[in-house]
Amino acid sequence: MKYIIMDLEWNGAYSKKAHGYFNEIIEIGAVAFDEAMQPCGTFHEVITPVVSKKLSRIVKDLTHITQEELEQNGGSFESVMTAFEAWAGTDAAVLTWSNTDLLVLMENFTFFKGEPAVPFMAYYADIQPFCQKRMGEDTSQQMGLSRACEQLGISAENSALHRALDDSRLTAKVFVRLFDAEAFAPYLRRVDEDFYKRILYKPVVLNDINHPLIKRSDLAFSCESCGTNLHRKSKWIFRSRHFCADFLCRSCKKVYTGRVQYKQTYDGVEVRRRLKEKEKAVKPEASEAE
Ligand SMILES: [Zn+2]
Repeated sequence: MKYIIMDLEWNGAYSKKAHGYFNEIIEIGAVAFDEAMQPCGTFHEVITPVVSKKLSRIVKDLTHITQEELEQNGGSFESVMTAFEAWAGTDAAVLTWSNTDLLVLMENFTFFKGEPAVPFMAYYADIQPFCQKRMGEDTSQQMGLSRACEQLGISAENSALHRALDDSRLTAKVFVRLFDAEAFAPYLRRVDEDFYKRILYKPVVLNDINHPLIKRSDLAFSCESCGTNLHRKSKWIFRSRHFCADFLCRSCKKVYTGRVQYKQTYDGVEVRRRLKEKEKAVKPEASEAE
């Protein structure tokens, strides 16, 4: 197996065929490493866009790619991808920094070839969370590539940021520095039919309390201080993607708000539950009397 660290640049434009905004790939850059992490080649091509010949201001400012360069040196999406496939071989692990590039690549294959499958990918990994974890960084917020370089003391000075080949080289420097075969293994996924279904699956938060996938047992809570089963005092209402209701502990009189979220994912329903004690009412005596 060889590791291919890939980076793409794309131009966003409205497309009738895509029924909306389409991110058309205009450049692909990649560096390859063997299993001993020795460099074994690079790939770089530009693609002449066909959806919109006009590059957006963002793309021009960010990449400094010119229309002339794309017209003169670019190939078609199909020919560049065929060349990439020949270069990558049949057993490549394609690695990208965050999965945005993968999604754009799948979007382009769907647009030009009718299906999202990427022919040169035997394995795939998003190396952004891996690198972030290896650096001991808090993973709740995504770390950008330039921040990772900065933290590791990797200089981006001599490279053209936001050009595909230089960006893939920088990503590779970060990855090689942090690589450990055993630690990386769980991030690497085999690319089969299931892989694409999983990536394209849009999770849904269930909002109907009578939905057949909702287990009633998840809607019950017990008191945090005495363990007694709580008594629900209000109807379930659906608010900010959660079901919420008030609960009372009949034994120690504590009042709580219970929140439950059901998210239907590719692998089944994920349940998140939270119980929070309510602020004490100002005049508890009056209502308790009856
Ligand atoms: Zn209690």
